[in-house]
Amino acid sequence: MSRTALATIHLGALRRNLARVRERAGKAKVMAVVKADGYGHGLERVARALSDADAFGVASLGDGLRLRAAGIVKRIVVLSGPDEAGDLAELRRLQLDAVIHHESQLAWLESDRDPRSLRVWLKIDTGMHRLGFAPDVARAVHARLRALANIDPDIVLMTHFAASDEFDNALTARQIAAFDDATRDLAGPRALANSAGVLGWAGARNDWVRVGGLLYGLSAIEGKSGPDLGFEPAMTLSTKLVAVNRVARGERVGYAVMFECPEDMPVGVAAIGYGDGYPRSAPSGTPVLVNGVRVAIAGRVSMDLIAIDLRNTADAKVGDRVVLWGSELPVEEIAAHAGTISYDLTCGMTRRVLFVEDEA
Ligand SMILES: *Cc1c(COP(=O)(O)O)cnc(C)c1O
Repeated sequence: MSRTALATIHLGALRRNLARVRERAGKAKVMAVVKADGYGHGLERVARALSDADAFGVASLGDGLRLRAAGIVKRIVVLSGPDEAGDLAELRRLQLDAVIHHESQLAWLESDRDPRSLRVWLKIDTGMHRLGFAPDVARAVHARLRALANIDPDIVLMTHFAASDEFDNALTARQIAAFDDATRDLAGPRALANSAGVLGWAGARNDWVRVGGLLYGLSAIEGKSGPDLGFEPAMTLSTKLVAVNRVARGERVGYAVMFECPEDMPVGVAAIGYGDGYPRSAPSGTPVLVNGVRVAIAGRVSMDLIAIDLRNTADAKVGDRVVLWGSELPVEEIAAHAGTISYDLTCGMTRRVLFVEDEA
């Protein structure tokens, strides 16, 4: 047990981050996006902590089922809707809202005689070119949905931004204009903004915002960490030193001899590796904290272990705490070294990691 990598989830941080989102979202309702197991923080635990949200957003019907099984009665939106006709009965039974983004889904709905009501969100593709109906068919699709007796008439209109994390990118302004144009005379609430949309695009805070990253204290803005944006990291990833060795000048550490000791020096070995989800792409020099002191990894990340240059904290010993990311070391910094984004790292924790909850 003592060797286990630990992901501590700060429930208070999740709650405070939701309150911070509300402050910035004006009168909009907040959908807490909990896809990918709550961005790796644990689906049920995050949903319980964020009980003040107005709805939850999940990627799949299966996650909606998990939340209902956990006793969550709040509105839940399945962000990609039904994947096949047979999903409709399950969506209705579980009272999950379905995003409708494709003609095939519309056809399943039109031949579905199930009397139980289904709430839908109509997704319009305004430039992301992933999911959604083209703007020029939005009105016709809306009319077809409104014609169905078993569809709740209060249809939410939504779109998704491709580049809202760049606050000066004209694409987002064009997406907002295209959305307004396509939906001008349609009734119903509007839902445009993701985390970056809430921060950078006041014109996109309509009736709903759909927020993931910020709730976890994660940033999708290049060069900014969650704390830089005023949000608290909800995950601390930590482990322990399992060895401290003196390695002579000129000797090399780890696989593929990526790190050569510039002097006789202490090298620590910590019990975490890519088998836990710590990125193998993190090179020598990627920061870690040992007893709160900032040091760096030395050589290549291996499956179960990393080596650490301990020259800045020469009294470190076996059993000492090593923090890979958390409030004192934003995960965005690790992501930048590893050539990815913070979301990717928190989503990547493997089953070997022990999750613990911290109420504060
Ligand atoms: C993931 C997702 C969001 C949340 O994005 P964040 O950048 O994490 O806030 C919002 N809307 C949709 C459709 C999504 O898929």
